[in-house]
This record gives sequence, structure tokens and C-alpha cells, in this order.
Amino acid sequence: MACNSNRCVSSDSKNKRKLPYIEPSIRVIAGFFLSLIGVLLYFFNDLILILIGSLLFISLNLFQSGLTHYCIMEKGLKLFGFRSELDEIKDLSAKAELSASIQKNYIKTLNLLNEAIVEISQDGTILTASDGWSKLISHNTLDPQENANSILSYIHESDKSLVIDMFKKVFNSDESVHRVRFRLKHSHKTEHWIGGKFMLEVLSDSDIRIRGVLRDITDSYLQEKQIKHMAMHDALTGLPNRILLDEKMDLALEGAKKNNSLLGLLFIDLDNFKQVNDIHGHKMGDHLLVSVSRIMQKRLRDHDTLARWGGDEFVVVLPELKHVSDVRRVAESLMGILETELVEEGFDAIVTLSIGGATYPADANSTETLLVQADKALYCAKDQGRNNVQIYTELRESNLGYYDFEMTNRFSQAIKDNRIQVYYQVIVSAKNKETCGFEALARWHDDKYGWVSPGIFIPMAENLGLIQDLGKQVLAKALEDFSSVGGNSDLVLSVNISNRQIMHGDFTGWIENFIKNYDVRPEQIKLEITESLAQMDIKKAKAILESLRETGFKLSLDDFGTGFSSLSNLHNLPVDELKIDMSFVQRCEDADGKIMLETIVAMGHALGLELVAEGVDSPECVTIMQNLGVAKLQGYYFSKPIPWGEVTELFISNHVVTRLSNKA
Ligand SMILES: [Mg+2]
Repeated sequence: MACNSNRCVSSDSKNKRKLPYIEPSIRVIAGFFLSLIGVLLYFFNDLILILIGSLLFISLNLFQSGLTHYCIMEKGLKLFGFRSELDEIKDLSAKAELSASIQKNYIKTLNLLNEAIVEISQDGTILTASDGWSKLISHNTLDPQENANSILSYIHESDKSLVIDMFKKVFNSDESVHRVRFRLKHSHKTEHWIGGKFMLEVLSDSDIRIRGVLRDITDSYLQEKQIKHMAMHDALTGLPNRILLDEKMDLALEGAKKNNSLLGLLFIDLDNFKQVNDIHGHKMGDHLLVSVSRIMQKRLRDHDTLARWGGDEFVVVLPELKHVSDVRRVAESLMGILETELVEEGFDAIVTLSIGGATYPADANSTETLLVQADKALYCAKDQGRNNVQIYTELRESNLGYYDFEMTNRFSQAIKDNRIQVYYQVIVSAKNKETCGFEALARWHDDKYGWVSPGIFIPMAENLGLIQDLGKQVLAKALEDFSSVGGNSDLVLSVNISNRQIMHGDFTGWIENFIKNYDVRPEQIKLEITESLAQMDIKKAKAILESLRETGFKLSLDDFGTGFSSLSNLHNLPVDELKIDMSFVQRCEDADGKIMLETIVAMGHALGLELVAEGVDSPECVTIMQNLGVAKLQGYYFSKPIPWGEVTELFISNHVVTRLSNKA
């Protein structure tokens, strides 16, 4: 370093002043010769001796004055192998010059690097610094009252304590190298990150210092931060993703447990988001998600977490709530602000929120359960017609929601355990009341709730996305039971098929294959569909129904009359029969009801369809239906839905006997 180099230069000049000196032994010998010359001159007044004496005297003086090149004495001594102090000094001087030059080159090389090398005292005063340090602090501006010689003056306020702690460690710990990452102050207010390695340097008992190598790591650090951010955040909205949400939820729950505080969680779903995407395109959908995120974020506190759960779903973590009712307050406030601000931002589509909330410790003791309870509350909010807030705690206290949730869970489990039962209701010929077939009906008996109406559990299966599982389970059981009648029987098994089931994948191929496992022909199966199928993709629906018919299946339009919106498409649905809904059949004795029935029957006949009356529960109703020209009857008058064992006993044996006797 520069100071050391200066020190070397001053030392060289001192060495040069010592050059005239000769080694003591030489001086003794020279003294001996001088004395001898003096004695000789005294006793022999001879010119030759005077000359020799003078030469020796001059030689000695030359030797002493450092002009050794002309010094006979020096040359004479060297002949005897003597080495003068001058030679020694010359060698040392050459070595010192070489060493100084190497050191200078090292410093030049270090200055070429971007790293800065500093030596600092225990209190942070900069003792020496390479040029790299000047480069590192070139964007720093110190306040006038700050000490420019202290390294701490250049360090970002937030990181000062970190660096001071590290300095203490350097002095107190056994580790040789200490690493720390900190920010320098930056006049442009951008982040200026430094990676530092520090070690202790003991020069003497009183001179102990810290040597540090500092490097600008801003680019690599920010890249690393960016990569970490990308792994933890949603690319579209920049909100925390599920990974980070898990971390935040764990931390929040840990804090709530430790401080005995309330933690709230909101599960948010954007209503009608699919329509926004369908009508305005995905770009607008994305734009909406970004706006919704930003608006909600604005309303939340700094320590709340808003995360994107996926699609149009968000989760909000609300730590340190004062009261359970705060969850609802925050949820409603989010709904309010969105409604106003989205309109201000020019979104003409009406976007509302369905929100489900839950709290710790009232509803759950783990983040996982808290999410499940909030999700259940959200399901309830959607079920209530969307655009509303449901809080799990309130639902549980009112019992209604809890009942629903528990029943939902028990129903899902019943489907998983294959515990849904199938009962059968007989369908008879209106003409001779002979058994034509049976309609398979799903029945669920729960240990806690008893028999649950299909009017409750079928919509539940639709909402839970379990309708296909339910349909498949009922079909399999019905086919298994029905296969006992044999493939040659003319009895027909009617099975209800949901729209979702029929429109999913290659339904025709699937069911054709499925019945191969049983001794049943497609012609023995009647698939009951509902009018609402016509409201879906009518072209696709028609194609599927036609392929089913070609395969041999019979098709029936169930609950006919309850969905007039599809009446215009009725002729497009290639079905074999219409099942008149029981709401019409049961009004057959009213004048108005009868007119309605006559209209339906006339229409059915005009379309060439066979008619079946559901809900026939009296002999009068039977007569009216017979007179109207309805072909088949179904209802409590003949039989309520019963298990297959009773069906066999009551109807199949008789049917076989009747058929045999008819043939005989
Ligand atoms: Mg039906």
C-alpha cells in the first residue's frame, strides 16, 4: 500500500548515508596500517615510503568516502575474500526495491478488481482502503455531520446493527472468516448490495484491526431475489402464491397461538368470472384479476396477506383481529370497495364476490382446517345465490350451515363407501296394468339423519361434482339387480341420467361397454333425461341421443312440463316417450289441470311419443289417464319405490306367470 511504499523509500535514503562506513574489523586493520606508516615515516625519511604511506592514506580515505572503485585497499581486501558492508547494503537495497515494486504491482492489480479491500479499527474507522472502496461509495452522499472516516457512515440504516454485530463476532469468535450481506446508502435510492468477508488481523498487541474484502453484489442479489419472488408469487397479479401463503399462514397461526390472539381467514371467489372470460376474452379476464387484486390489497393492512389461490379464487390471512366479527367486517368492506372501484376503472361487467370466512381458535386449530372451514363457508355463500359473505362461526352457531356441512361430508363419504342404495318403482301399462318395467331411484340412508330426500342429496351431488359418481353407482347396482330378469325379458329398466353425465366424454361408448358386464341388452334400458338437456349444446345433445338410440337404448324425457323454455327444441330431442311430471298428474281432477294435461298429451301424440304419467296415486287418476290416452302409469297407487328383493317377489314372479299364462 502507498504508506508502506513511502516507508520503504525513506529507509533506502537512510541506508545510503551509511555507505562510507566500513566494518569494524576493517577499520581496526586500517588503523594498524596507518600506525605502521606513521612509525616508518618517523624512522625512515625515505621518499618511497612516504609515497607508499600516502597511497595507503588516500586509499583508506577513498574507502571511507565510498569511492571504493578506486580504492586499492578495498580491492586488496577483496582478494583475501573480505566482503564489504557496502556490498551487503547494495544487495539489501536491491531486494527492498524489488519487494516494493512487487507490492506496488499487487496494489495496481487489486485496484483493477471491483473488490474493495479495507482495513478498519475496532470502532469502524477506515485505516486503509484500496481504490475499489472509492468505486463502491461513488454513489454515496454523506450528511455533513457524518464521519467520512467511519465505514458505518456508508451503511444503510437498516443494516448497520447487522454489520456492528458481525464486527463484534470477528473479535470474539474463533472463526477465521465472517461473511455478511448488507446495503450501502445510495444517493439514487436504489438498492446497493455488498457482500463482505471480514477477518481479524493482529499486527501487534496494540494494533488489532479488521481486514475486509467487499464486493458489489447488487445484480446477482437482485436476480436471486427475483427468482425467489417468482417461485413464491403469482406471475399475473404478483400476489403470494400457495407456497408463500402456506408459509404466511403457518407464521400467522404460530403468532396467534403465542400471543393468544384471533386469526381470520377469508376464501374469496369472483362470481361470474367465467362469463367475463367468455364474453370479453381472457385478456380482459386477466386485467380484471389484476385490478381486483390491487383494489383488495389497498383495503388490507400491511401485515395482512392477500394470496391468489388459483383461477379466480383468493385467500386473505388476517392476523391479530380484535373480534370474531372483524372477519365479516373486512369481507364486506372488500365487497364494497370492489363494487365502487371496478366501475370507476371502467369495468362494465358486474363482478361480485362470494366470500367464506373462518377464525382461529373458534373454528380450527390448524391452517389446513381453517382453510377447509373457510372453503365450506364459501360453498355456503355460493349456495345462497353468490354475492354474499358467510362466516363459518356464524353458520355453526345458527346450526343450519353446520347441518349442511356435516351432511355434505357424510354424503360424500357415503358415495365413496358405495353406500347409496337403489330402490325401484314399478311402471305399468295403462291398458291392462301389466308390469312394463321399473324406474331405478337412488336412496340414501344416513345413520344420523335417517332417510335423506333425493331432493336434497341430488343437488348436493351436483354441487360437489359427485353426480357422475352417483350416477355410475346407481347404474351399476340397478344393472346388477335387473340382470336377474334375464336378457330375454321384455321388462324395461329406467335409469335417470344427469346432463353432466350424458355430455361428458363419449357417453354412448362408455355405457355400451358398461352394460356388457351384465346380462342386459341396450333395448332393455331406458335412459331418462331432462328437458334442460335441450338448453345445453343442443347439437351435441342431439348427436349423443341419436347415437344412443342407434345402439339400442330407449330414451325418455323425464319431468316433462317443468321446463317450458326448451319446448321449442323439443322436436330436436330424439326421444321415445314423455314422462308427464307428477305436478300435472296430481291436478288431473281440477278443470284447469285437466286442460293442461290434455294439451301435453295432445302435443306428445302429435310428436309420435308414448306418454307416461308419474305420481298416479288414486283409482280416479288411473281412469282419467286411461281416458286421456296415456300409455303407462307410475305412482304410489301401484307401488312406492321398494328394494329389488320385494320387486322380484311382488312383480317379476307375477309378471313371468302372467306372461306364461297369456302365452298358454
Ligand atoms: Mg325419473
